[in-house]
Amino acid sequence: MEAAPLVRIRDLKKSFGAHPVLKGVSLDVHAGEVVSIIGASGSGKSTFLRCINVLEMPSGGTMDFEGFHFDYEEGARRAPTAGQLRELRARIGMVFQSYNLWPHMSVLENVIEAPIRVKGEAPADAVAKAEELLARIGLAEKRHAYPSRLSGGQQQRVAIVRALAMQPRLMLFDEVTSALDPELVGEVLSLMASLAGEGMTMLLVTHEIGFAREVSNRVLFFDQGVIAEDGPPGEVLRQPRSERLKQFLRRVL
Ligand code: ADP
Ligand code: MG
Repeated sequence: MEAAPLVRIRDLKKSFGAHPVLKGVSLDVHAGEVVSIIGASGSGKSTFLRCINVLEMPSGGTMDFEGFHFDYEEGARRAPTAGQLRELRARIGMVFQSYNLWPHMSVLENVIEAPIRVKGEAPADAVAKAEELLARIGLAEKRHAYPSRLSGGQQQRVAIVRALAMQPRLMLFDEVTSALDPELVGEVLSLMASLAGEGMTMLLVTHEIGFAREVSNRVLFFDQGVIAEDGPPGEVLRQPRSERLKQFLRRVL
């Protein structure tokens, strides 16, 4: 029997006012899976990731994740409580396009902040763990530097490590290389590839089709608020079924 998925999402919907952005998205992600999301701008990719950790409150559907069951249907609504939200976000790490490190904190302070404040870790333990993570990305000697002194690629790798310091069960990446100078993209992708290789469960929105092909187990094509295609990269990227995906791939490849 197949293990239960880490995340089970059914018929997830999100509207902004009268504008439906997610029109019923269903997805299972199993532990250790790396799932890439591609699709045109405005198709709802970011909104979908933001609904998973409830940075946006979904308008319908359900989500199961590690014993949480959230029901966003009108009427049946069992929206997360404040305590559940804290817990959920402690277990789901998210990294954005703009590497929004806290500018007034050093690299080290950025990494230890949530483990101390949210998880109640002892400062000495948090520091030891953070230094290990920073050493791993080759930035141990930058631990007292402020983010503005780092390159975009370094900042983004610190942002990833900051999320990892919480020991998340799931990582969400939203176009994390899109704002970087081309020569800095590789160092961020290679950190993500190494996380994938270690079995981290990852859901990532990306325009890096080569990366999606090499690193992910599955690729989802989002089109106008639904998952229009879903399969292994070899199928979705090499044998697209719909004309819209063919067109999209012609534009980005
Ligand atoms: P993608 O990440 O695929 O480019 P988004 O999820 O960012 O797409 O946006 C999908 C649609 O939802 C867009 O039309 C966008 O304008 C709209 N949208 C996203 N966030 C908001 C918001 N907070 N308020 C109103 N509309 C929004
Ligand atoms: Mg987006």
